[in-house]
Amino acid sequence: MKEIILVKVGEIALKGLNRKNFEDMLIKNIKRKIHKLGRFDIVSAQSTIRITPLDDFTDMDEVAEKLSKVFGIVAFSRACVAEKDMEKIKESAAEYLEPIFSENISFKVESKRSDKKFPYGSPEISKMVGGFLADRFPNVTVDVHDPDVVVTVEIRDFGAYVHAKVEEGAGGLPVSCGGKAAILISGGIDSPVAAYMMAKRGLELSAVHFASPPYTSDRAEEKVSDLLEIVSDYAGKMNMYTVPFTKIQEEIQKNCPEELFTIIMRRMMMKISDRIARRVGCQALITGESLGQVASQTIGAIACTDEASTLPVFRPLIGMDKKDIIDISQKINTFETSCLPYEDCCTVFTPRHPKTKPDPERVRNAEAKIDWEDMINEAVENVKLTRIGENLY
Ligand code: ATP
Ligand code: MG
Repeated sequence: MKEIILVKVGEIALKGLNRKNFEDMLIKNIKRKIHKLGRFDIVSAQSTIRITPLDDFTDMDEVAEKLSKVFGIVAFSRACVAEKDMEKIKESAAEYLEPIFSENISFKVESKRSDKKFPYGSPEISKMVGGFLADRFPNVTVDVHDPDVVVTVEIRDFGAYVHAKVEEGAGGLPVSCGGKAAILISGGIDSPVAAYMMAKRGLELSAVHFASPPYTSDRAEEKVSDLLEIVSDYAGKMNMYTVPFTKIQEEIQKNCPEELFTIIMRRMMMKISDRIARRVGCQALITGESLGQVASQTIGAIACTDEASTLPVFRPLIGMDKKDIIDISQKINTFETSCLPYEDCCTVFTPRHPKTKPDPERVRNAEAKIDWEDMINEAVENVKLTRIGENLY
């Protein structure tokens, strides 16, 4: 039996004149996501995207699994295709729904007829298909108020479809329709979640990671690329730029007041990320900071860090509790990897008493005693590129 998938787009529908661009981007992202599973005809018609497999071997469970991770899809339904003939529709519905209807469920039928040439109206279609299913499966009951299953019959221009289960999509906006930004990624719980959240709002990502060997290990770096691989299942392919940060951190430790180590280090991260981001065409930076979580994430410290970047800095977790961040990391499957115990450069040379209310003037003065320019240039010139998501797409 021929099965297709009907995709419901979300906020895209609200985008007025840009709607076509959003829809084209979504279709491109869907194609990229499922192309390894076979050939498909993907078209947008009557505010739905219809995905029709063209090969017999295609595993539609796998297609559905992949679609559940495409941003811009609010919901989707797997549906069987029937000829636009009442008898054929009834028979197809019974055959397609048999696995669900062999249980003692209650159901109702709803119909949508966008092909006005079809000889029956929606209420009649519902009544006929409902009656047929009730006769065919004596164990099920009709309940129009609170049914376990709503069967939908759609009569469209191209054919008739029957479906019974709406699956939740990933929501958000299609990746890439909102521009490009660089996520500052550590191996922690927060930054992968921040990356996921901004990709969900339609951003294409690049990633910047600071490593300080030998204080941080290769394994710590691998952990970060592993995390990005998981995120890329939603966010698409991306480049990870690993910045050699040892020299700058050692310089900070040697020449700056101890209580300002962290804040100056974070400003250096911003300056370097800003340069890399601009070089690769990003329009914003993203961090996993959450207000008050640690000393460097107070309002004063954030203001001081912010100054160091010329690009806007997005902090999608700013108002979230750790518990809520963990819930998302579990949902997107980064939590376990984030919890692996490898060191981050942020935990190297941590001051005993970091300033929670740094005086920006004092920070700038402390920073000005050293000529950072050559060191920053050297770090930017020596980034290591790792490609993420190559095997997924
Ligand atoms: P996370 O769980 O993301 O590590 P955190 O609560 O441990 O966050 P910090 O270590 O203060 O917080 O880092 C705050 C933010 O700074 C991170 O969310 C991330 O965006 C960025 N960051 C921290 N360490 C690195 C690093 N080694 N490379 C790139 N960005 C980093
Ligand atoms: Mg961290």
